[in-house]
Amino acid sequence: MSEVWVLGDGQLGGMLKDAGRRLGIPVRVVDPADIEAGERLAHADPLCITAEREHWPDTQCTRALLAHPRWRNAPAFAALADRQSQKALFDQLGLPTAPWCPVSADADVESLREALGGEFLLKQRRGGYDGRGQWRSQLAREATLPLWQTEAIAERCIDFTTEVSLVGARNRAGDRVFYTLTENFHAGGILQISVMQPGRFAAWQAEAERCHARLMSHLNYEGVLAIEFFVTPEGLLINEVAPRVHNSGHWTQAGASISQFELHLRALTGMPLVTPLQPGCSVMVNLIGRDADRAALALAGTQRHWYGKQPRPGRKLGHLNFFHPQASEAARWLQALPLSPDFQASRAAALRSLAQWDNG
Ligand code: AMP
Repeated sequence: MSEVWVLGDGQLGGMLKDAGRRLGIPVRVVDPADIEAGERLAHADPLCITAEREHWPDTQCTRALLAHPRWRNAPAFAALADRQSQKALFDQLGLPTAPWCPVSADADVESLREALGGEFLLKQRRGGYDGRGQWRSQLAREATLPLWQTEAIAERCIDFTTEVSLVGARNRAGDRVFYTLTENFHAGGILQISVMQPGRFAAWQAEAERCHARLMSHLNYEGVLAIEFFVTPEGLLINEVAPRVHNSGHWTQAGASISQFELHLRALTGMPLVTPLQPGCSVMVNLIGRDADRAALALAGTQRHWYGKQPRPGRKLGHLNFFHPQASEAARWLQALPLSPDFQASRAAALRSLAQWDNG
């Protein structure tokens, strides 16, 4: 059977490969530096070519993948890989997002504060992720902007209630399906914990789906796409969009009848696209810079996913999933999990959210 090729051989590619094995769809992950893969492609006839990331080096291999007629979602990668064109697209489509502006060489802290009506962040247009490539005006000791100011956009600092994300998929025929909104808890810009509780954000689900559907239709998108939102008293604001499977959708491996990885492959290969059953509460905890303690694995509900990467501080090395019909049990698991002190604030916030909803 013909293969699905994935640009990128990180953990997302690895989990797409696992999902493909279960579905009976052979998935080949491709290291952008692999010259042979580029050459092999000339004689191969993949079912389609997708990506697990939106930034890649310009290599012989990536040029060959992108030039292939089966490369999917070229318009989405072109529009979404750069924060400036991403934000411009939100404005063009009338999608709500934090006020922003491009940054010229003569812009300074005061002029940007004035333009955006308050404190702001600089975000690198390309390549910044997990909070990297960000600069906050409130924390600035000096009134000068960083050297990379012209490679950044400026964005108004948002006073949000919480952060949620919507993972959904579309196929070539235009069918769409969505997961339930997931609440995300970050520290230092890195996602630490995701919680999905049915009904918790029901008031925002339709609006989030409307934004997601608008974007996917405009881009003629095929596969899974994730949108991160800030929840504010005035409504949802889009933070950013990822044209791929997403860390905040990892809970679907345990808490949904179809994981986001399987959903992506289904959408790309024309298999039936149906809304996954998501009957209970799910919690996902990232393993950042270290593995889980034995005590975490001794909890009966713990599911461990390990990426096999070299440990490094701040690096996502794996994640733990937990699923239970009751929020109180999800809270009990999260409470019992041995976690490093830098998870303290995220865990407390996630527990508050679980307790609040469970108590009605
Ligand atoms: P990002 O890399 O854009 O996802 O940002 C990482 C994290 O930084 C987000 O999850 C937020 O917690 C925070 N952040 C990003 N943009 C803003 C903003 N405009 N206002 C306040 N916090 C932000």
